[in-house]
Amino acid sequence: MTRSSNLIDLDSHPTARLRAELDHRTKVTPAMLHSIDKQGRLISVSDAWLAKLGYSREEVIGRPSSEFLTPESRMYAIREVLPAFFLSGRIDNVEYQMVCKDGRVIDILLSAVLDKSLPEMEAVSLAVITDVTAFKAAEQQLILSEARYRELVESQSELVSLANPEGVLRFVNHAYARHYGLQPHEMEGRNLFDFIPEDSRAAVAEHLRIVCSVSHSVENENQVVLSDGQVRWMAWTNRALFDAQGQVTTIHSVGRDISDRVAAERRLQESEARYRLLADHSTDMVFQLDGDLVRRYVSPSCRDILGYEPEDLIGAQPMAMAHPEDAPIVTLAFQSMLEGRADRRSIINRIRHRDGHWIWVEAQLKALKDPKTSTISGIIGTLRDVSARKAIEDQLQEANRRLQALAEQDALTGLANRRYFDEALLRAHAHALSERTNLALLMIDVDRFKSFNDRYGHPSGDECLKRIGGAIKDTIRRAGDVAARYGGEEFAVLLPGADGSEAASVAELIRLAVLHLGIEHEASPNGIATISVGVTGLTGDSSCGPEALVRKADRALYRAKERGRNTVVIAHD
Ligand code: GH3
Ligand code: MG
Ligand code: MG
Repeated sequence: MTRSSNLIDLDSHPTARLRAELDHRTKVTPAMLHSIDKQGRLISVSDAWLAKLGYSREEVIGRPSSEFLTPESRMYAIREVLPAFFLSGRIDNVEYQMVCKDGRVIDILLSAVLDKSLPEMEAVSLAVITDVTAFKAAEQQLILSEARYRELVESQSELVSLANPEGVLRFVNHAYARHYGLQPHEMEGRNLFDFIPEDSRAAVAEHLRIVCSVSHSVENENQVVLSDGQVRWMAWTNRALFDAQGQVTTIHSVGRDISDRVAAERRLQESEARYRLLADHSTDMVFQLDGDLVRRYVSPSCRDILGYEPEDLIGAQPMAMAHPEDAPIVTLAFQSMLEGRADRRSIINRIRHRDGHWIWVEAQLKALKDPKTSTISGIIGTLRDVSARKAIEDQLQEANRRLQALAEQDALTGLANRRYFDEALLRAHAHALSERTNLALLMIDVDRFKSFNDRYGHPSGDECLKRIGGAIKDTIRRAGDVAARYGGEEFAVLLPGADGSEAASVAELIRLAVLHLGIEHEASPNGIATISVGVTGLTGDSSCGPEALVRKADRALYRAKERGRNTVVIAHD
Protein backbone atom coordinates (compact mmCIF):
# COMPACT_ATOMS: atom_id res chain seq x y z
CA MET A 1 0.00 0.00 0.00
CA THR A 2 1.47 3.35 -1.03
CA ARG A 3 0.03 6.43 0.57
CA SER A 4 2.24 8.89 -1.12
CA SER A 5 5.09 8.60 -3.55
CA ASN A 6 7.62 10.35 -1.31
CA LEU A 7 6.77 8.39 1.83
CA ILE A 8 8.59 5.25 2.86
CA ASP A 9 6.84 1.93 2.56
CA LEU A 10 5.76 1.06 6.11
CA ASP A 11 5.68 -2.64 5.39
CA SER A 12 9.33 -2.92 4.43
CA HIS A 13 12.11 -3.98 6.85
CA PRO A 14 12.57 -1.38 9.65
CA THR A 15 16.31 -0.97 9.09
CA ALA A 16 15.87 -0.57 5.40
CA ARG A 17 13.06 1.81 6.08
CA LEU A 18 15.12 3.97 8.46
CA ARG A 19 18.10 3.89 6.13
CA ALA A 20 15.99 4.96 3.21
CA GLU A 21 14.43 7.71 5.24
CA LEU A 22 17.80 8.92 6.48
CA ASP A 23 19.20 8.78 2.97
CA HIS A 24 16.36 10.88 1.76
CA ARG A 25 16.33 13.36 4.62
CA THR A 26 20.08 13.87 4.75
CA LYS A 27 20.18 14.70 1.11
CA VAL A 28 17.64 17.49 1.15
CA THR A 29 18.22 19.13 4.56
CA PRO A 30 20.14 22.40 4.68
CA ALA A 31 21.83 21.18 7.91
CA MET A 32 25.11 19.31 8.06
CA LEU A 33 24.04 15.76 8.98
CA HIS A 34 25.65 12.39 8.80
CA SER A 35 24.88 8.95 10.11
CA ILE A 36 27.29 6.16 10.89
CA ASP A 37 27.01 2.45 11.47
CA LYS A 38 28.26 0.56 14.49
CA GLN A 39 31.78 0.56 13.03
CA GLY A 40 31.70 4.32 12.75
CA ARG A 41 31.51 4.25 8.95
CA LEU A 42 29.51 6.90 7.17
CA ILE A 43 26.34 5.46 5.78
CA SER A 44 24.76 8.75 4.72
CA VAL A 45 25.68 12.44 4.56
CA SER A 46 23.66 15.57 3.72
CA ASP A 47 24.31 17.75 0.68
CA ALA A 48 25.26 20.55 3.08
CA TRP A 49 27.86 18.26 4.74
CA LEU A 50 29.41 17.51 1.33
CA ALA A 51 29.31 21.11 0.25
CA LYS A 52 31.01 22.30 3.40
CA LEU A 53 33.82 19.71 3.25
CA GLY A 54 34.14 19.71 -0.54
CA TYR A 55 33.63 15.99 -1.20
CA SER A 56 31.28 14.02 -3.44
CA ARG A 57 29.00 11.44 -1.84
CA GLU A 58 30.87 8.53 -3.54
CA GLU A 59 34.16 9.71 -1.96
CA VAL A 60 32.86 9.51 1.63
CA ILE A 61 30.22 6.79 1.99
CA GLY A 62 31.70 3.77 3.73
CA ARG A 63 34.71 5.64 5.14
CA PRO A 64 35.05 6.03 8.95
CA SER A 65 33.68 9.41 10.06
CA SER A 66 36.80 9.96 12.20
CA GLU A 67 38.90 10.13 9.00
CA PHE A 68 37.50 13.62 8.39
CA LEU A 69 38.73 14.89 11.74
CA THR A 70 42.14 16.42 12.52
CA PRO A 71 44.54 13.96 14.25
CA GLU A 72 43.88 15.65 17.62
CA SER A 73 40.11 15.47 17.25
CA ARG A 74 40.35 11.91 15.95
CA MET A 75 42.32 10.86 19.00
CA TYR A 76 39.77 12.58 21.23
CA ALA A 77 36.89 10.90 19.36
CA ILE A 78 38.34 7.39 19.50
CA ARG A 79 39.50 7.58 23.09
CA GLU A 80 36.72 9.51 24.76
CA VAL A 81 33.75 10.54 22.72
CA LEU A 82 32.78 7.39 20.78
CA PRO A 83 32.99 4.96 23.75
CA ALA A 84 30.82 7.28 25.77
CA PHE A 85 28.46 7.72 22.84
CA PHE A 86 27.87 4.02 22.28
CA LEU A 87 27.34 3.64 25.98
CA SER A 88 24.94 6.48 26.62
CA GLY A 89 23.36 6.80 23.22
CA ARG A 90 23.87 10.54 22.83
CA ILE A 91 26.46 13.30 22.82
CA ASP A 92 25.91 17.03 22.83
CA ASN A 93 27.99 19.81 21.33
CA VAL A 94 31.32 18.04 21.20
CA GLU A 95 34.00 20.39 19.91
CA TYR A 96 35.84 18.87 16.98
CA GLN A 97 37.92 20.12 14.12
CA MET A 98 37.23 18.67 10.66
CA VAL A 99 39.52 18.75 7.64
CA CYS A 100 38.07 19.77 4.29
CA LYS A 101 39.16 18.09 1.07
CA ASP A 102 41.30 21.15 0.24
CA GLY A 103 43.05 20.86 3.64
CA ARG A 104 41.22 23.73 5.39
CA VAL A 105 40.39 23.01 9.04
CA ILE A 106 36.96 23.98 10.33
CA ASP A 107 35.69 24.15 13.91
CA ILE A 108 32.47 22.24 14.52
CA LEU A 109 30.09 21.28 17.28
CA LEU A 110 28.69 17.78 16.93
CA SER A 111 25.59 16.37 18.58
CA ALA A 112 24.40 12.85 17.88
CA VAL A 113 21.80 10.26 18.88
CA LEU A 114 22.15 6.46 18.64
CA ASP A 115 19.25 4.27 17.67
CA LYS A 116 19.80 1.35 20.07
CA SER A 117 16.64 -0.41 19.09
CA LEU A 118 18.29 -1.70 15.96
CA PRO A 119 20.24 -4.96 15.86
CA GLU A 120 23.90 -4.84 16.85
CA MET A 121 25.37 -4.72 13.35
CA GLU A 122 22.80 -2.30 12.04
CA ALA A 123 23.09 0.26 14.77
CA VAL A 124 23.09 3.71 13.27
CA SER A 125 23.44 7.19 14.66
CA LEU A 126 22.39 10.50 13.34
CA ALA A 127 24.80 13.43 13.91
CA VAL A 128 24.10 17.09 13.54
CA ILE A 129 27.14 19.21 12.86
CA THR A 130 27.35 22.95 13.33
CA ASP A 131 30.16 24.90 11.73
CA VAL A 132 31.45 27.24 14.45
CA THR A 133 34.62 28.36 12.67
CA ALA A 134 33.41 31.92 12.38
CA PHE A 135 32.25 31.89 15.98
CA LYS A 136 35.62 30.52 17.14
CA ALA A 137 37.41 33.18 15.15
CA ALA A 138 35.19 35.82 16.72
CA GLU A 139 35.89 34.37 20.14
CA GLN A 140 39.60 34.56 19.43
CA GLN A 141 39.14 38.16 18.28
CA LEU A 142 37.31 38.85 21.51
CA ILE A 143 40.17 37.49 23.58
CA LEU A 144 42.58 39.62 21.57
CA SER A 145 40.39 42.68 21.82
CA GLU A 146 40.02 42.13 25.54
CA ALA A 147 43.80 42.12 25.80
CA ARG A 148 43.88 45.30 23.74
CA TYR A 149 41.12 46.78 25.93
CA ARG A 150 43.20 46.13 29.04
CA GLU A 151 46.25 47.65 27.43
CA LEU A 152 44.23 50.71 26.46
CA VAL A 153 42.57 50.96 29.82
CA GLU A 154 45.87 50.72 31.66
CA SER A 155 47.38 53.50 29.59
CA GLN A 156 44.55 55.85 30.62
CA SER A 157 44.84 58.47 33.28
CA GLU A 158 41.11 58.05 33.82
CA LEU A 159 39.79 55.54 36.30
CA VAL A 160 38.25 52.48 34.65
CA SER A 161 36.43 49.66 36.38
CA LEU A 162 34.21 46.70 35.61
CA ALA A 163 31.81 45.63 38.31
CA ASN A 164 29.02 43.13 38.50
CA PRO A 165 25.45 44.40 38.96
CA GLU A 166 25.82 44.07 42.74
CA GLY A 167 28.77 46.44 42.66
CA VAL A 168 31.56 43.90 43.18
CA LEU A 169 34.64 45.20 41.39
CA ARG A 170 35.84 42.66 38.83
CA PHE A 171 38.52 44.82 37.30
CA VAL A 172 40.10 48.17 38.10
CA ASN A 173 42.91 49.75 36.11
CA HIS A 174 46.11 50.92 37.75
CA ALA A 175 45.01 54.56 37.63
CA TYR A 176 41.86 53.58 39.53
CA ALA A 177 43.72 51.69 42.24
CA ARG A 178 46.41 54.39 42.48
CA HIS A 179 43.74 57.06 43.03
CA TYR A 180 42.40 55.14 46.01
CA GLY A 181 45.94 54.47 47.28
CA LEU A 182 45.69 50.72 46.67
CA GLN A 183 46.85 47.99 44.25
CA PRO A 184 44.34 46.63 41.69
CA HIS A 185 44.24 43.21 43.41
CA GLU A 186 43.39 44.90 46.72
CA MET A 187 40.28 46.38 45.14
CA GLU A 188 39.16 43.63 42.78
CA GLY A 189 36.64 41.44 44.61
CA ARG A 190 35.57 44.26 46.93
CA ASN A 191 32.28 46.10 46.59
CA LEU A 192 32.46 49.60 45.16
CA PHE A 193 30.07 50.75 47.92
CA ASP A 194 32.93 50.14 50.40
CA PHE A 195 34.58 53.19 48.86
CA ILE A 196 31.55 55.47 49.05
CA PRO A 197 30.69 57.55 52.16
CA GLU A 198 27.70 56.13 53.97
CA ASP A 199 25.48 59.13 53.40
CA SER A 200 26.04 58.95 49.62
CA ARG A 201 25.38 55.23 49.23
CA ALA A 202 21.63 55.44 48.74
CA ALA A 203 22.02 58.01 45.96
CA VAL A 204 24.70 55.94 44.22
CA ALA A 205 22.55 52.79 44.50
CA GLU A 206 19.67 54.67 42.90
CA HIS A 207 21.97 55.92 40.15
CA LEU A 208 23.24 52.38 39.42
CA ARG A 209 19.65 51.13 39.31
CA ILE A 210 19.03 53.65 36.52
CA VAL A 211 22.28 52.65 34.75
CA CYS A 212 21.13 49.01 34.75
CA SER A 213 17.78 49.94 33.22
CA VAL A 214 19.10 51.75 30.14
CA SER A 215 21.42 50.82 27.30
CA HIS A 216 23.29 54.14 27.15
CA SER A 217 25.83 55.61 29.51
CA VAL A 218 24.73 57.76 32.45
CA GLU A 219 26.77 60.46 34.18
CA ASN A 220 26.95 60.84 37.93
CA GLU A 221 28.94 62.89 40.40
CA ASN A 222 29.47 61.52 43.87
CA GLN A 223 31.95 61.44 46.70
CA VAL A 224 34.33 58.58 47.36
CA VAL A 225 36.56 57.70 50.30
CA LEU A 226 40.22 56.94 49.61
CA SER A 227 42.21 54.40 51.60
CA ASP A 228 43.67 57.21 53.75
CA GLY A 229 40.15 58.39 54.66
CA GLN A 230 40.27 61.43 52.34
CA VAL A 231 36.91 62.24 50.72
CA ARG A 232 37.04 63.29 47.05
CA TRP A 233 34.44 64.32 44.46
CA MET A 234 34.36 62.13 41.35
CA ALA A 235 32.55 62.36 38.01
CA TRP A 236 31.57 58.97 36.59
CA THR A 237 30.31 57.77 33.23
CA ASN A 238 28.61 54.45 33.90
CA ARG A 239 27.21 51.99 31.42
CA ALA A 240 25.57 48.60 31.82
CA LEU A 241 26.58 45.71 29.59
CA PHE A 242 23.88 43.14 28.86
CA ASP A 243 23.95 39.47 27.86
CA ALA A 244 21.82 37.95 25.07
CA GLN A 245 18.92 37.50 27.51
CA GLY A 246 18.98 41.17 28.41
CA GLN A 247 20.42 40.58 31.87
CA VAL A 248 23.02 43.05 33.15
CA THR A 249 26.37 41.29 33.37
CA THR A 250 28.69 44.19 34.01
CA ILE A 251 28.75 47.85 34.97
CA HIS A 252 31.47 49.63 33.08
CA SER A 253 32.66 52.84 34.76
CA VAL A 254 35.02 55.62 33.74
CA GLY A 255 35.75 58.24 36.36
CA ARG A 256 37.86 61.28 37.11
CA ASP A 257 38.53 63.38 40.18
CA ILE A 258 36.65 66.68 40.10
CA SER A 259 37.33 67.81 43.67
CA ASP A 260 39.23 70.93 42.52
CA ARG A 261 36.43 71.92 40.17
CA VAL A 262 33.78 71.36 42.85
CA ALA A 263 35.76 73.47 45.32
CA ALA A 264 36.18 76.25 42.74
CA GLU A 265 32.47 76.13 41.93
CA ARG A 266 31.64 76.38 45.60
CA ARG A 267 33.91 79.41 46.05
CA LEU A 268 32.31 80.99 42.97
CA GLN A 269 28.84 80.29 44.30
CA GLU A 270 29.74 81.90 47.60
CA SER A 271 31.18 85.00 45.96
CA GLU A 272 28.23 85.13 43.54
CA ALA A 273 25.87 84.95 46.46
CA ARG A 274 27.68 87.88 48.08
CA TYR A 275 27.49 89.97 44.90
CA ARG A 276 23.90 88.96 44.43
CA LEU A 277 23.18 90.27 47.90
CA LEU A 278 24.76 93.59 46.96
CA ALA A 279 22.92 93.71 43.63
CA ASP A 280 19.59 92.83 45.21
CA HIS A 281 19.89 95.69 47.69
CA SER A 282 21.33 98.32 45.39
CA THR A 283 19.15 101.29 44.48
CA ASP A 284 20.74 101.13 41.04
CA MET A 285 19.33 98.44 38.80
CA VAL A 286 21.99 95.77 38.30
CA PHE A 287 21.66 93.62 35.20
CA GLN A 288 23.54 91.01 33.23
CA LEU A 289 23.30 90.39 29.49
CA ASP A 290 24.52 87.26 27.73
CA GLY A 291 26.42 87.24 24.44
CA ASP A 292 23.14 87.62 22.50
CA LEU A 293 22.28 90.73 24.55
CA VAL A 294 19.49 88.92 26.34
CA ARG A 295 18.97 89.86 30.01
CA ARG A 296 19.96 86.99 32.28
CA TYR A 297 19.64 88.79 35.60
CA VAL A 298 17.88 91.99 36.67
CA SER A 299 17.96 93.22 40.27
CA PRO A 300 14.73 94.13 42.09
CA SER A 301 15.32 97.91 41.79
CA CYS A 302 13.92 97.62 38.27
CA ARG A 303 10.54 98.03 40.04
CA ASP A 304 11.44 101.53 41.22
CA ILE A 305 13.35 102.58 38.11
CA LEU A 306 11.34 101.05 35.25
CA GLY A 307 8.12 99.92 36.89
CA TYR A 308 8.68 96.29 35.84
CA GLU A 309 9.18 93.10 37.84
CA PRO A 310 12.58 91.42 37.27
CA GLU A 311 10.88 88.46 35.56
CA ASP A 312 9.24 90.85 33.04
CA LEU A 313 12.71 91.91 31.91
CA ILE A 314 14.71 88.68 32.17
CA GLY A 315 14.91 86.92 28.79
CA ALA A 316 14.24 90.10 26.78
CA GLN A 317 16.63 92.46 25.03
CA PRO A 318 17.29 95.98 26.40
CA MET A 319 17.16 97.49 22.90
CA ALA A 320 13.41 96.92 22.80
CA MET A 321 12.89 99.57 25.51
CA ALA A 322 15.41 102.14 24.28
CA HIS A 323 14.23 105.41 22.73
CA PRO A 324 14.46 105.16 18.91
CA GLU A 325 16.76 108.20 18.80
CA ASP A 326 19.12 106.63 21.35
CA ALA A 327 19.06 103.10 19.93
CA PRO A 328 22.14 103.66 17.69
CA ILE A 329 24.38 104.78 20.57
CA VAL A 330 23.17 101.94 22.79
CA THR A 331 23.77 99.38 20.02
CA LEU A 332 27.19 100.85 19.34
CA ALA A 333 28.15 100.65 23.02
CA PHE A 334 27.03 97.01 23.30
CA GLN A 335 28.74 95.99 20.06
CA SER A 336 32.04 97.64 20.92
CA MET A 337 32.09 95.68 24.18
CA LEU A 338 31.08 92.33 22.71
CA GLU A 339 33.70 92.75 19.99
CA GLY A 340 36.33 93.46 22.63
CA ARG A 341 37.02 97.05 21.54
CA ALA A 342 35.94 98.51 24.87
CA ASP A 343 36.09 97.01 28.34
CA ARG A 344 33.85 99.62 29.99
CA ARG A 345 31.33 102.10 28.64
CA SER A 346 29.08 104.69 30.17
CA ILE A 347 26.02 105.84 28.24
CA ILE A 348 23.08 108.11 28.97
CA ASN A 349 19.92 107.30 27.09
CA ARG A 350 16.16 107.23 27.33
CA ILE A 351 14.18 104.12 28.27
CA ARG A 352 10.45 103.71 28.26
CA HIS A 353 9.00 103.31 31.75
CA ARG A 354 6.26 100.72 32.12
CA ASP A 355 3.64 103.47 32.33
CA GLY A 356 4.78 104.83 28.93
CA HIS A 357 6.86 107.91 29.76
CA TRP A 358 10.51 108.18 28.87
CA ILE A 359 13.09 108.31 31.62
CA TRP A 360 16.74 109.24 31.30
CA VAL A 361 19.09 106.55 32.57
CA GLU A 362 22.81 106.38 32.95
CA ALA A 363 24.21 102.88 32.28
CA GLN A 364 27.66 101.84 33.44
CA LEU A 365 28.63 98.79 31.42
CA LYS A 366 31.43 96.30 31.83
CA ALA A 367 32.33 93.40 29.53
CA LEU A 368 32.14 89.96 31.15
CA LYS A 369 35.18 87.90 30.27
CA ASP A 370 35.69 84.18 30.68
CA PRO A 371 38.78 84.13 32.94
CA LYS A 372 40.22 81.08 31.19
CA THR A 373 39.56 81.76 27.50
CA SER A 374 39.33 85.57 27.70
CA THR A 375 36.34 85.45 25.36
CA ILE A 376 33.56 87.93 26.10
CA SER A 377 30.53 86.10 27.39
CA GLY A 378 28.27 89.05 28.08
CA ILE A 379 27.87 92.42 29.72
CA ILE A 380 27.19 93.38 33.31
CA GLY A 381 25.88 96.82 34.10
CA THR A 382 24.14 99.18 36.46
CA LEU A 383 21.31 101.47 35.49
CA ARG A 384 20.47 104.66 37.35
CA ASP A 385 17.53 106.99 36.80
CA VAL A 386 19.09 110.34 35.98
CA SER A 387 15.87 112.00 34.78
CA ALA A 388 15.94 114.54 37.62
CA ARG A 389 19.60 115.28 37.09
CA LYS A 390 19.04 115.45 33.34
CA ALA A 391 16.14 117.89 33.82
CA ILE A 392 18.28 120.15 36.01
CA GLU A 393 21.11 119.92 33.48
CA ASP A 394 18.69 120.86 30.69
CA GLN A 395 17.37 123.81 32.70
CA LEU A 396 20.89 124.89 33.46
CA GLN A 397 21.80 124.65 29.81
CA GLU A 398 18.76 126.73 28.84
CA ALA A 399 19.57 129.30 31.56
CA ASN A 400 23.15 129.49 30.35
CA ARG A 401 21.94 129.91 26.80
CA ARG A 402 19.67 132.78 27.90
CA LEU A 403 22.42 134.29 30.02
CA GLN A 404 24.75 134.13 27.08
CA ALA A 405 22.16 135.82 24.86
CA LEU A 406 21.61 138.49 27.49
CA ALA A 407 25.31 139.09 27.77
CA GLU A 408 25.42 139.73 24.04
CA GLN A 409 22.18 141.68 23.70
CA ASP A 410 21.22 145.30 24.18
CA ALA A 411 18.36 145.34 26.64
CA LEU A 412 16.52 148.33 25.14
CA THR A 413 16.55 147.49 21.42
CA GLY A 414 17.21 143.71 21.41
CA LEU A 415 20.07 144.29 18.97
CA ALA A 416 23.58 142.98 19.64
CA ASN A 417 25.35 145.01 22.31
CA ARG A 418 28.67 146.84 22.03
CA ARG A 419 30.63 143.95 23.55
CA TYR A 420 29.24 141.49 21.02
CA PHE A 421 29.76 143.95 18.22
CA ASP A 422 33.45 144.48 19.08
CA GLU A 423 34.05 140.74 19.01
CA ALA A 424 32.03 140.30 15.83
CA LEU A 425 34.04 143.06 14.19
CA LEU A 426 37.34 141.37 15.14
CA ARG A 427 36.12 138.03 13.81
CA ALA A 428 34.68 139.47 10.59
CA HIS A 429 37.81 141.54 10.00
CA ALA A 430 40.13 138.56 10.47
CA HIS A 431 37.95 136.43 8.23
CA ALA A 432 37.85 139.10 5.50
CA LEU A 433 41.64 139.41 5.57
CA SER A 434 42.34 135.69 5.48
CA GLU A 435 39.72 134.98 2.82
CA ARG A 436 40.46 138.23 0.93
CA THR A 437 36.75 139.12 0.94
CA ASN A 438 34.96 142.40 1.46
CA LEU A 439 33.62 143.75 4.71
CA ALA A 440 31.45 146.86 5.12
CA LEU A 441 30.79 148.88 8.29
CA LEU A 442 27.94 151.37 8.83
CA MET A 443 27.98 153.85 11.73
CA ILE A 444 24.57 155.38 12.42
CA ASP A 445 23.68 158.34 14.68
CA VAL A 446 20.24 159.74 15.42
CA ASP A 447 19.96 163.36 14.36
CA ARG A 448 19.36 166.05 16.96
CA PHE A 449 18.45 163.53 19.58
CA LYS A 450 19.37 165.75 22.47
CA SER A 451 16.52 168.07 21.56
CA PHE A 452 14.20 165.02 21.08
CA ASN A 453 14.78 164.10 24.67
CA ASP A 454 14.39 167.69 25.72
CA ARG A 455 11.08 168.04 23.90
CA TYR A 456 9.44 164.59 24.45
CA GLY A 457 11.20 163.33 27.57
CA HIS A 458 13.71 160.56 28.13
CA PRO A 459 11.23 157.64 28.10
CA SER A 460 9.95 158.72 24.66
CA GLY A 461 13.58 158.98 23.59
CA ASP A 462 14.04 155.36 24.64
CA GLU A 463 10.96 154.36 22.69
CA CYS A 464 12.28 156.20 19.66
CA LEU A 465 15.62 154.36 19.89
CA LYS A 466 13.77 151.07 20.16
CA ARG A 467 11.82 151.73 16.95
CA ILE A 468 14.89 152.89 15.06
CA GLY A 469 16.71 149.73 16.24
CA GLY A 470 13.79 147.67 14.91
CA ALA A 471 13.94 149.43 11.54
CA ILE A 472 17.67 148.71 11.27
CA LYS A 473 17.17 145.05 12.21
CA ASP A 474 14.38 144.61 9.68
CA THR A 475 16.46 146.08 6.88
CA ILE A 476 19.46 143.80 7.20
CA ARG A 477 18.48 140.36 6.09
CA ARG A 478 21.64 138.45 5.17
CA ALA A 479 22.88 135.76 7.52
CA GLY A 480 26.12 136.95 9.07
CA ASP A 481 25.10 140.64 9.04
CA VAL A 482 25.25 142.16 12.51
CA ALA A 483 23.25 145.14 13.75
CA ALA A 484 24.30 146.53 17.13
CA ARG A 485 23.57 149.39 19.45
CA TYR A 486 27.00 150.96 19.58
CA GLY A 487 26.22 153.28 22.48
CA GLY A 488 23.69 156.04 23.39
CA GLU A 489 21.80 156.90 20.23
CA GLU A 490 24.45 155.37 17.94
CA PHE A 491 24.12 152.15 16.00
CA ALA A 492 26.62 150.08 13.98
CA VAL A 493 26.05 147.56 11.23
CA LEU A 494 28.55 144.96 9.95
CA LEU A 495 28.02 143.59 6.45
CA PRO A 496 30.53 140.79 5.77
CA GLY A 497 31.14 140.22 2.04
CA ALA A 498 29.45 143.49 0.99
CA ASP A 499 31.33 145.82 -1.37
CA GLY A 500 31.05 149.64 -1.38
CA SER A 501 27.91 149.93 -3.50
CA GLU A 502 26.05 147.14 -1.63
CA ALA A 503 26.95 148.83 1.67
CA ALA A 504 25.78 152.22 0.35
CA SER A 505 22.43 150.79 -0.72
CA VAL A 506 21.89 149.05 2.67
CA ALA A 507 22.75 152.38 4.39
CA GLU A 508 20.29 154.21 2.19
CA LEU A 509 17.58 151.56 2.88
CA ILE A 510 18.12 152.01 6.62
CA ARG A 511 17.94 155.82 6.32
CA LEU A 512 14.66 155.49 4.40
CA ALA A 513 13.27 152.89 6.82
CA VAL A 514 13.84 155.28 9.75
CA LEU A 515 12.34 158.13 7.80
CA HIS A 516 9.30 156.01 7.05
CA LEU A 517 8.79 155.36 10.74
CA GLY A 518 7.59 158.98 10.77
CA ILE A 519 8.46 159.55 14.44
CA GLU A 520 7.44 163.08 15.27
CA HIS A 521 10.43 165.32 15.99
CA GLU A 522 9.56 169.04 16.07
CA ALA A 523 13.18 170.15 16.28
CA SER A 524 13.99 168.32 13.08
CA PRO A 525 13.84 170.38 9.84
CA ASN A 526 11.28 167.99 8.27
CA GLY A 527 9.43 167.36 11.58
CA ILE A 528 10.32 163.66 11.92
CA ALA A 529 13.23 161.70 13.41
CA THR A 530 16.08 160.94 11.00
CA ILE A 531 19.50 159.35 11.07
CA SER A 532 22.89 160.02 9.52
CA VAL A 533 25.05 157.14 8.26
CA GLY A 534 28.79 156.89 7.68
CA VAL A 535 29.84 153.97 5.47
CA THR A 536 33.25 152.42 5.04
CA GLY A 537 34.55 149.10 3.75
CA LEU A 538 37.41 146.72 3.60
CA THR A 539 38.17 145.60 0.05
CA GLY A 540 40.07 142.40 -0.68
CA ASP A 541 43.53 144.02 -0.75
CA SER A 542 43.31 146.68 1.98
CA SER A 543 45.25 146.42 5.22
CA CYS A 544 43.14 148.70 7.43
CA GLY A 545 42.72 147.42 11.03
CA PRO A 546 39.35 147.13 12.81
CA GLU A 547 39.75 150.29 14.92
CA ALA A 548 40.86 152.31 11.92
CA LEU A 549 37.80 151.02 10.11
CA VAL A 550 35.54 152.32 12.88
CA ARG A 551 37.34 155.72 12.86
CA LYS A 552 36.86 156.00 9.08
CA ALA A 553 33.16 155.21 9.41
CA ASP A 554 32.90 157.77 12.21
CA ARG A 555 34.55 160.43 10.04
CA ALA A 556 32.11 159.67 7.22
CA LEU A 557 29.26 159.96 9.76
CA TYR A 558 30.64 163.31 10.93
CA ARG A 559 30.62 164.53 7.33
CA ALA A 560 27.01 163.36 6.96
CA LYS A 561 26.11 165.56 9.95
CA GLU A 562 28.03 168.43 8.36
CA ARG A 563 26.12 167.99 5.13
CA GLY A 564 22.84 168.62 6.95
CA ARG A 565 22.00 165.17 8.46
CA ASN A 566 19.47 162.57 7.20
CA THR A 567 22.29 161.60 4.83
CA VAL A 568 24.54 158.67 3.93
CA VAL A 569 28.23 159.43 3.36
CA ILE A 570 30.69 156.90 1.94
CA ALA A 571 34.25 157.17 3.28
CA HIS A 572 36.99 157.62 0.68
CA ASP A 573 40.63 156.89 1.34
P1 GH3 B 1 23.54 165.30 16.37
O1 GH3 B 1 22.50 165.42 15.30
O2 GH3 B 1 24.72 166.15 16.08
O3 GH3 B 1 23.90 163.92 16.68
O4 GH3 B 1 22.86 165.94 17.60
P2 GH3 B 1 22.53 165.25 18.91
O5 GH3 B 1 21.56 166.01 19.74
O6 GH3 B 1 22.01 163.86 18.65
O7 GH3 B 1 23.88 165.27 19.57
P3 GH3 B 1 24.61 164.23 20.50
O8 GH3 B 1 24.94 163.03 19.71
O9 GH3 B 1 25.73 164.96 21.14
O10 GH3 B 1 23.55 163.91 21.61
C1 GH3 B 1 23.19 162.63 21.97
C2 GH3 B 1 22.10 162.64 22.94
O11 GH3 B 1 21.40 161.41 22.94
C3 GH3 B 1 22.61 162.85 24.34
C4 GH3 B 1 21.69 162.05 25.19
O12 GH3 B 1 20.77 162.85 25.89
C5 GH3 B 1 20.88 161.23 24.20
N1 GH3 B 1 20.92 159.89 24.57
C6 GH3 B 1 22.03 159.06 24.58
N2 GH3 B 1 21.65 157.82 24.99
C7 GH3 B 1 20.33 157.88 25.23
C8 GH3 B 1 19.39 156.92 25.69
O13 GH3 B 1 19.68 155.78 25.95
N3 GH3 B 1 18.06 157.33 25.84
C9 GH3 B 1 17.68 158.57 25.57
N4 GH3 B 1 16.40 158.89 25.71
N5 GH3 B 1 18.54 159.49 25.17
C10 GH3 B 1 19.86 159.17 25.00
MG1 MG C 1 25.66 160.97 19.08
MG1 MG D 1 23.04 162.28 17.56
